[in-house]
Amino acid sequence: MELTLSIIKPDGVRRNLVGKIFSQIEESGLRIAATRMIHLSRREAEQFYAVHKERPFYGELVESMTTGPVVVSVLEGANAIARYRDLMGATDPKKAAAGTIRATHAVSIGENTVHGSDAVDTAKHEVGFFFAGTEIVNRAK
Ligand code: ATP
Ligand code: MG
Repeated sequence: MELTLSIIKPDGVRRNLVGKIFSQIEESGLRIAATRMIHLSRREAEQFYAVHKERPFYGELVESMTTGPVVVSVLEGANAIARYRDLMGATDPKKAAAGTIRATHAVSIGENTVHGSDAVDTAKHEVGFFFAGTEIVNRAK
């Protein structure tokens, strides 16, 4: 069983899409193993997205992630990382496949509603970033 980190970004929480996105996640067979709602500080958003520090959109990304609360979750399943990336769809919602979370809900590449870890090492790091010292309470038996 693999774990991955999901974030429902401020644009998704603001537009009351938490339940719809959780439904898409659960209907895909992934398990919500832990979850909570938080409002990221600028410093936390900067740290979380530090890998993108040199990219031209970094400032805008950090800014948009702090505009309101987010829902951070740990998802569990076989191949959870790749499966959640598939379920999210392409970064640019115009290129996202029909039925994916981003095709259904995202506004733009900047406000693309969800984040998901992209590899085993980043998933480990990102789950630790938000859930270190927290029990992942809803693991599959
Ligand atoms: P995420 O990491 O959020 O799951 P991703 O892996 O599909 O998305 P990345 O390349 O890691 O995409 O970019 C991180 C985030 O930065 C994207 O989700 C998007 O919100 C933002 N972003 C990426 N490219 C651009 C861009 N050209 N203009 C504005 N924002 C961008
Ligand atoms: Mg990414």
